[in-house]
Amino acid sequence: MNKKGSLFVFSGPSGVGKGTIMRNFIATDPNSFISVSATTRRPRPGEENGVHYYFMTESEFVQLAESGGMLEYANFSGNYYGTPKKPVYEKLEEGKNVFLEIEVQGAAKIKQLCPEAIFIFVMPPDMHELTRRLVDRNTEDQHTIEVRLSNAKREIEQAKNYDYIIVNHTIEEAVNDLTAIVRSAKCTYDHMKNFINEVLKDA
Ligand code: 5GP
Repeated sequence: MNKKGSLFVFSGPSGVGKGTIMRNFIATDPNSFISVSATTRRPRPGEENGVHYYFMTESEFVQLAESGGMLEYANFSGNYYGTPKKPVYEKLEEGKNVFLEIEVQGAAKIKQLCPEAIFIFVMPPDMHELTRRLVDRNTEDQHTIEVRLSNAKREIEQAKNYDYIIVNHTIEEAVNDLTAIVRSAKCTYDHMKNFINEVLKDA
């Protein structure tokens, strides 16, 4: 069997429900790990350092990035976000599936670095629903919401670069779709080629 885990990239516009889908999925799948990103954005109420993000100053972030500690990073909505490299490789080696919940520029970098990763994009049912969810979430001020909505169109245009699209009508359906994708990824030739070569050795 292929003992290494698979790398999944999970993107979608702000407010689409990526975080909720991920948390619900992970609760059912102990073999999966969500990478904790570093960011220079301020914590929202209820967010904890080391759990939701590693909250950093800009100079701490830049230092980590320049010392090669990030797998990818990007500037989104005026803040830096990046994936610390070490835990991702460690968890993949342990055989865990690793999920990066990242925006589209970071995803494009992962595609160059790791073309065998599985790319999943989460869509809102429509733009009205996305606006409603961002406003109801009540975690951003009006200006930030407007910036994020104008980013959303550009992000959705990048959905063409992803392997799978999940439409978040309900969390339950979206989690079911994600479960199906993760399961099918386990059966791809790419994932199974080491196993096939092992069997052929004895043939
Ligand atoms: P938020 O501020 O809403 O938590 O995140 C803003 C955007 O940054 C979201 O699309 C989120 O997926 C993305 N993001 C979070 N962590 C990372 C990361 O490590 N790298 C990149 N490129 N984007 C990230």
